[in-house]
Amino acid sequence: MEHAAFVILDQSSMSKPLKKAKGGKVRPQLLRGMKDILPQDAPYWDMIRRKARELAESYSFSRVETPLLEARDLFERSIGEHTDIVSKEMFTFTDKGGESIAVRPEWTASACRAYIEHGMVNQPQPVKLWSFFQCFRRERPQAGRYRSFWQADYEVIGDADPVVDAELILILYTFLKELGIQGLVQINSLGTPETRRKYTRGLVEYYKKHARKLCGDCKVRLKKNPLRLLDCKVPECRELVTAAPEIIDFLDDESRKHFMSVLEYLDESEVPYNLNSRLVRGLDYYTRTLFELWPDREGGENIALGGGGRYDGLMKLLGGRDTPACGFAMGVDRVVLEMKEQHITPPRQFQPDVYLAQLGDRAKRRSLKLFNDLRASGVRIIENFSQDGLKEQLGAASDAGVRYTLILGQKEMLDNTILLRDMENGSQEVVAFEKIVGEVKKKLG
Ligand code: AMP
Repeated sequence: MEHAAFVILDQSSMSKPLKKAKGGKVRPQLLRGMKDILPQDAPYWDMIRRKARELAESYSFSRVETPLLEARDLFERSIGEHTDIVSKEMFTFTDKGGESIAVRPEWTASACRAYIEHGMVNQPQPVKLWSFFQCFRRERPQAGRYRSFWQADYEVIGDADPVVDAELILILYTFLKELGIQGLVQINSLGTPETRRKYTRGLVEYYKKHARKLCGDCKVRLKKNPLRLLDCKVPECRELVTAAPEIIDFLDDESRKHFMSVLEYLDESEVPYNLNSRLVRGLDYYTRTLFELWPDREGGENIALGGGGRYDGLMKLLGGRDTPACGFAMGVDRVVLEMKEQHITPPRQFQPDVYLAQLGDRAKRRSLKLFNDLRASGVRIIENFSQDGLKEQLGAASDAGVRYTLILGQKEMLDNTILLRDMENGSQEVVAFEKIVGEVKKKLG
């Protein structure tokens, strides 16, 4: 999927792992397409993580953490051998014991493995699991597409009811809405594996007639993964897509009923959606409902901030009992980009009330413990022990917007006192050193 709206490409994502600096020394750099989350961006991540947890708790999802490394076979069997993720994008290696290992490219397969392995089938169904994690795909780096990225993932395992699909879509929609992003749901149904087979045959028949006009990639897709023909962004191929058969015409009665019911729930919940018969998504395990969420703004088309669907056959494929399931993953990095695009800024998390300023060596030595005592007693306090001048420290205190500054200087050290300065009106009072914790707490109420 292209992301024309995001034109600023992260320089770090294009870097090479090693670069020669002056003097011929080699200095390490990020791997291509990988990214660091730096302090200026961390508040976005924190805000999204908090929202992810809040929604998970409200909707009774339990958190599960799985390892970054899994058996390669887990993803090959679930995502599908001929998908882009498995055939081109997985980071894989053979470890020293000869085992074939993959770095996780997504989480659904890991969640299913955990469900089977820990006998969650014996718990009351459905089992609702969520996680917030990093995953890795060796894709061609571009804006909004990285080789290391974060997802918030929600899975409901053990219930085929369409209300589950609708609830998940509602969670994804609400997630973005409460971050300040208005989304538009793209939805489709892939029916049963039988529907998919019939549809794929129809698609192949249609495309064979136009094979000469296809781009190189699509020629391969026609042989290996025909559904992905619908995803191609090359203009000539896009034209062919317009007249291609639509899956909705191939749906069996049960799947059609299921799909209609999901849509009715969405109507009732006032979630805006667009029936998108071209939506196929790049993983093989989907059955029936399939969805993505795009920002509802000009240029927001095809920017998938999150996506998911139903995967009723996956558990059995992985050796578990036949268990219906549905889930989605939200792409955190892309949501951060979208927040920036829409000038949404995360709220300040820590607002300090007090600044501790110190002057002179003895005062500095005493300040370390005083600071920790005040912090431990619940006062939101900050310091900058690297700064020695009073002017700089008062400046920093005022920039931080604190209500009070405590000043411990040489005179106060001699008198065993400390100054308490009201930052609003500049008045100062002298307080006995041993009473300061109680005095500050009283002032702050
Ligand atoms: P998927 O696991 O492919 O269903 O993707 C779910 C969501 O993860 C997408 O809608 C994107 O928001 C995000 N995503 C997928 N691949 C990448 C990537 N390479 N870089 C950044 N975000 C991604």
